[in-house]
Amino acid sequence: MPITLQCPRLNCRTILQVPESVRGKRVRCGECGMTFIVPTTAKAAPPPKKAPAEQAKE
Ligand SMILES: [Zn+2]
Repeated sequence: MPITLQCPRLNCRTILQVPESVRGKRVRCGECGMTFIVPTTAKAAPPPKKAPAEQAKE
């Protein structure tokens, strides 16, 4: 699933979609040509729910 990013250049702000495999790497904005690092934490999927360690008696 691709990540949606916004170009950090203030007068560009183009929405870019990049594959998750580029996290932490440089990508280039197709509009202004600026290169920037894709943040590794942006739009991360929520972690799976952990099963309760103990079941309470009802
Ligand atoms: Zn741009």
